[in-house]
Amino acid sequence: LRILLLGAGGREHALAHHLLASPRVEQIFVAPGNGGTATLDAKRCKNIDVPAGVNGDWKQIVQWSREQQVNFVVPGPEQPLVDGVEQAFRDVGIPVFGPSPHAAQMEGSKAFSKDFMAKHSIPTADYKHFSASEISECLSYIESLGGAQAVVLKASGLAAGKGVILPETKEEAESTVRDILEKKIFGDAGSTLLIESRLTGPELSVLLFSDGYSHVSLPACQDHKRIGEGDTGPNTGGMGAYCPAPEATPEVVAAIERDVVEPSISGMRKDGFPFVGLLFIGLMITPQGPKVLEYNVRFGDPETEAVLELLDPAGASLADIMVACAERRLDSVDVKYKKGHSAVSIVLASGGYPGSYPKGKKITVGSVPEGVKVFHAGTSLSSSNELVTAGGRVIAVSAAGPTLFGALELAYKGVDAVDFEGKTFRRDIAHRALALASK
Ligand code: ATP
Repeated sequence: LRILLLGAGGREHALAHHLLASPRVEQIFVAPGNGGTATLDAKRCKNIDVPAGVNGDWKQIVQWSREQQVNFVVPGPEQPLVDGVEQAFRDVGIPVFGPSPHAAQMEGSKAFSKDFMAKHSIPTADYKHFSASEISECLSYIESLGGAQAVVLKASGLAAGKGVILPETKEEAESTVRDILEKKIFGDAGSTLLIESRLTGPELSVLLFSDGYSHVSLPACQDHKRIGEGDTGPNTGGMGAYCPAPEATPEVVAAIERDVVEPSISGMRKDGFPFVGLLFIGLMITPQGPKVLEYNVRFGDPETEAVLELLDPAGASLADIMVACAERRLDSVDVKYKKGHSAVSIVLASGGYPGSYPKGKKITVGSVPEGVKVFHAGTSLSSSNELVTAGGRVIAVSAAGPTLFGALELAYKGVDAVDFEGKTFRRDIAHRALALASK
């Protein structure tokens, strides 16, 4: 396989690492990649500097890929998928592990995915969506759901994880509605506003492979969105994840499969847009059962850095699984994961993140215990070939083991081995599981 991998985060470093585990992978080109993908395997993996999908233009990267005999494409982030990368490569006969532009709307438009859930009776929060001419309707809908603290306001389109607001007061709710619909603080992503009722309960992320017809779910993960320990402070892209999460009891997993996963996969097929790729379902386990918060049409970050550690090499490789999905024959491969094992990923961020932070700080990586993975996110190689910080989330350290405690201990040893000025991380990853275990 000659693979084009799109993206530049910890997720893409982890994907490249696990793809390289298969001998059938001859070459991976990462566009644009990061300091981690630049130093993975000099012969089989390299970063390339070819514009991919800038302003929705795929011609250049498609042409380049044909010249390089690329025969498989793995888009990491959502934007290329929503911008039609699958179609662009499908048109020239190069298969993609990822959904069609139509299916990518499950993430690209929250209004679309909520209407889909309503149509297929998939449990989710009550909602309505509104346009700029409906400000007063928005305000009365908020009141009808119980007021500001009972609702969540969401820009319908892609807003880089920033388009979801949980207002505290009536004034904040009203000003947010106006900011999104009238002032367009999220641009076109906010031309439709979604108002939904606020749910409570622990959150789970379920990642599943799908070929459009069948699917294989991976162990449920739990992310840690807030910057501060004890889930305090502002939201981030995710400060660490672990799996399986203890809330995913056999009963909960069965309910998610029956009420959410199966109707989602069959619903997309029935509606004429079978889903190929990795579907990520964000759920809240409410007192009434699991309810869907959102669909993502690609691997999540930092869940990927944890959950892929549970793939059992005795089963199909990640490359084999992805190709089988694209060829609509997921049934023909044996996806095995290490049952009973746990995996964790811990994010090291720049000082100041998620606010402003400095870049270009020198990173040192000492010796890490065997089995610990240091996945790069916001890193780059300086002109003098030195590894430096280049983003908010800098590195994700992952480990797996027969127990969650063991995996955590290993991963935190890895965290100690990495250093850069301002290094910020949470010491309480998996605190929900640890608290439940000590009861
Ligand atoms: P992501 O960065 O995960 O892609 P997103 O911007 O697409 O996020 P959502 O996942 O829909 O947005 O929401 C982000 C967070 O907001 C959720 O993880 C959850 O904590 C909270 N949230 C969203 N919807 C609700 C809801 N109906 N009730 C309570 N909390 C919610």
